[in-house]
Amino acid sequence: MSTQSNVRVRYAPSPTGYLHVGGVRTYLFNWLFAKRHGGKLILRIEDTDQERSRPEHEAKMMTDIRTLELDYDEGPDVGGDYGPYRQSDRLKIYFEHARKLLNEGKAYHCFCSPDELTQKRDAAMKMGRPFVYDGTCLKLPKEEIEKRLASGEKAGLRFRSPNKSFVLDDIVKGRVEFKEGTVGDFFITRSPREGEEEVAAGIGMPVYNFACVIDDHLMELTHIIRGEDHLSNTARQLMIYDAFGWELPQMAHSGMVLGTDRQKLSKRNGDVSVHDYLSKGYLPDAIINFLVLLGWWPKGDFKPKSGHPEILSREELFQIFDTNGLQKSPAIFDVQKLRWMNSFYLKSISLDEVMERSRRFFESYNEGTLKGLLEERSPEWLKEALDLVRSEVALLSELPEAIDKLFLREPEVDEKFSHVFEDPKAKEVAVIFEKKLRALHGDLTEEAVKALQKETGKDADAKGKVLFMTIRAITTGRTQGPELTKVLPLLGKDAVLGRIDALKREAAITE
Ligand code: GLU
Repeated sequence: MSTQSNVRVRYAPSPTGYLHVGGVRTYLFNWLFAKRHGGKLILRIEDTDQERSRPEHEAKMMTDIRTLELDYDEGPDVGGDYGPYRQSDRLKIYFEHARKLLNEGKAYHCFCSPDELTQKRDAAMKMGRPFVYDGTCLKLPKEEIEKRLASGEKAGLRFRSPNKSFVLDDIVKGRVEFKEGTVGDFFITRSPREGEEEVAAGIGMPVYNFACVIDDHLMELTHIIRGEDHLSNTARQLMIYDAFGWELPQMAHSGMVLGTDRQKLSKRNGDVSVHDYLSKGYLPDAIINFLVLLGWWPKGDFKPKSGHPEILSREELFQIFDTNGLQKSPAIFDVQKLRWMNSFYLKSISLDEVMERSRRFFESYNEGTLKGLLEERSPEWLKEALDLVRSEVALLSELPEAIDKLFLREPEVDEKFSHVFEDPKAKEVAVIFEKKLRALHGDLTEEAVKALQKETGKDADAKGKVLFMTIRAITTGRTQGPELTKVLPLLGKDAVLGRIDALKREAAITE
């Protein structure tokens, strides 16, 4: 990581719903870029759409960001030198800037009603043309505008799109040209809605493109990293930078995230709220690792410590992330891959961490019925049991059931169980193993299980699969699973004998 630099980037969510996985990906690109360059990440809440923005959405987004263990340097709750960081607290600033454009003739009042505009938009669509505002209100004489405003008529402010093309030199997309005439005059402040307080006479709430540029400039952002769905906004934003004579930050528009059906990622093709993944027991590090690789790839032949090219720790990402690894092409969100990654992380974190992170799932599992059973056992017992079952599951939320099935509940037989006992040798192995276990003095330790397996093999003249799979099947009901020499000591001699009793009936062993 490099030392302090002037790099300033931002994540600017609109609190109109949950934190989308695509939003988290944008967060990560900016967060990692700031870390890599010793810069600052700013969290800015874009809530000028008062109809759709809600404080509770903002609160939930912040909670999810914290749960993902992500940080930021400046924001509504942590402050900073460039605040306020919530757009609804910055209305005066937007108003001043709108007034400046109005005075310079770069913006004008537009009295067209939403109905009129919809009609014009529909007419353009019918003719297969994109809608470009026809400039009706641009032609209004000054006196008429003043008269209409004085009489209380509502108006929005339209930006006068200059008659020229704009070119963006995008870090990811390369040269992007926005041709003259494709973007008509557009609103920078809305006409105040019924009952809505006017920010200033005749000027309502600022719209996203306007507020965003003003903030990006005043907050001295050096790079804007976001998804290419914002490229169409960029045309308007370039015009606003130009109108104020401001320098453009460097821009990077990465390819979109699509579902496995190659459609835009939405509720239709899977969970899109990061909160859903956290509540299902995905680990923050796995989510981060997975999302950052959707549209970004390390340059060169970096070899992660994990030994797997796609498993990268946060520290490694801090060292190697850069915008030159961002991809133009769309990335596919494959939840199976996320599961795989999560199982990788679940196996590699410490057992204390597994215990801590899975606690809430144990508490809520089966209406809390596991809690009592687990209280009878020591934390060491639970730790060892978790170590055994974590190799079998992918999510934290799947651990309680795995423990319940293997150690606590009456054993259930798997689909291959009865095949095992079609072999008469298997029945003999089961009977001899049970006898030897009954005769065991002392605890059923790992060594004791090994010795019992060995002696059973000798007495039954059996080895390999028929020996080991039979002992597994008659003690657990399963034909595969975690290491039996570790599972049986955790069950204890009495519980194993109880299981053998029940499973002997299933295996049709009558002796
Ligand atoms: N508030 C915008 C959104 O949530 C962010 C736009 C941007 O990154 O410029 O989509």
